[in-house]
Amino acid sequence: MSVLERVPKSARLPGFLRLDGRARRQRLVDSTWLSSERARALEQAGGGLNEADADAMSENVIGLHALPLTVALNFRVDGVDRVVPMSVEEPGIVAAASGAARLVREGGGFASEAAAPVLTCRVQLLEVADVASARARLLAAAPALLAEADALIPSMVARGGGARELEVRLVGDGLVVHVHVDVRDAMGANTVNTVAEGLAPSLEALTGGRAGLRLLTNLADRLKVTVRCRVPVAALATADFPDGGLVARRVVEAQRFAESDVYRAVTHNKGVMNGVDAVLLAFGNDWRAVEAGAHAYACRGGASAPLTRWRCDGEALSGELTLPLATSMVGGAARNHAGVRLALELARVSSATDLGVLAAAAGLASNLAALRARSTEGINRGHMALYARRVAAEGPAVAARLSTERCYRPERAAQVLAELRGGAPAP
Ligand code: NAD
Repeated sequence: MSVLERVPKSARLPGFLRLDGRARRQRLVDSTWLSSERARALEQAGGGLNEADADAMSENVIGLHALPLTVALNFRVDGVDRVVPMSVEEPGIVAAASGAARLVREGGGFASEAAAPVLTCRVQLLEVADVASARARLLAAAPALLAEADALIPSMVARGGGARELEVRLVGDGLVVHVHVDVRDAMGANTVNTVAEGLAPSLEALTGGRAGLRLLTNLADRLKVTVRCRVPVAALATADFPDGGLVARRVVEAQRFAESDVYRAVTHNKGVMNGVDAVLLAFGNDWRAVEAGAHAYACRGGASAPLTRWRCDGEALSGELTLPLATSMVGGAARNHAGVRLALELARVSSATDLGVLAAAAGLASNLAALRARSTEGINRGHMALYARRVAAEGPAVAARLSTERCYRPERAAQVLAELRGGAPAP
């Protein structure tokens, strides 16, 4: 175990937001989250991807496309402080998640509950003459079919994973066989697709049917992660709303609105995914798979409903988030993206499930921040402060250009600003 691992670390780094990138890296080094070698590599990495690796990752590559790599602070998860790498283009998300994590800390932090990393693949069976007896034959053969599935993925079995359960569903006129596979620290899509394709001939033979689609479902509802928190109401008070109890009631009011109105529920869940997706992106995970699963899970009652639940609970505001989270710390981008490997190291990710817990904690924090802000001063104030920070950062570049041109007219300043932001030069 390295020295970095042994030192207990705090995820509270006051003043971090006001530092520049170099000073932030140094702060992470000083607080032992990051080794100085890694900090230097981060400075030089150019996003952690070179063109040769990018070429292996996708097709028709013509360059690299960067996003900010950030850390959300103040997270305490299952009693341990964590910094949470996030990557996202929208301003405000990281600050909001960090701010909410600080409130959650006041109540002891996030507590998690996660199922085993089980992903499901399916084989559709069509043209089955007698579905009832075919189903019975499949269920009787389940132990042998699971053993056959394991034989298709020996390295996964060697790692402690493998096929766990077989189910048979009646869908339309045919059958669909579900095989639930423990995929350990992989996202598992390719692994379970191998199982679905490999098992199909045996399933056809047993049922006399024809195999149709053979692949995973992204409704990974065996692979659910739950995070919970309890925020003391006193911590929720703001300058304009000194009564934390009132803020808690407003948050619950916004929650109940999402529970009763599908238009609000979808936007509520988008706010949850602001945090979840930003974490998934920093770790090079398949965020489309998680998005698809999360929104389908939100609709399990027939219409979209909030993924989170907030309630007043004595002197605290209690929150909970549950969603399917097929995360990975091996395979995919983790293979050749240095930025992803750095994020895994920085966040001390111990398993794919652990990463799912971090993503869920970021999702619950993002949701709390949004509900609290919208319930009190309104969201625009915080957003505008961040936009003001961005404009202030652009100021010196505009001033330098005006000075070179020896032109100090406000209209020219506006044109230069528009050009710097990548818009077409104003006429
Ligand atoms: P993968 O094909 O990279 O497999 C993971 C590899 O990691 C396996 O070879 C496994 O043996 C190895 N491994 C090493 N250490 C491991 C450990 N501790 N635990 C588990 N495996 C370990 O990736 P995958 O996870 O099978 O599939 C994920 C990829 O498939 C993603 O890129 C995803 O975007 C893509 N995909 C997604 C869908 C979908 O979501 N619908 C469909 C097809 C493909």
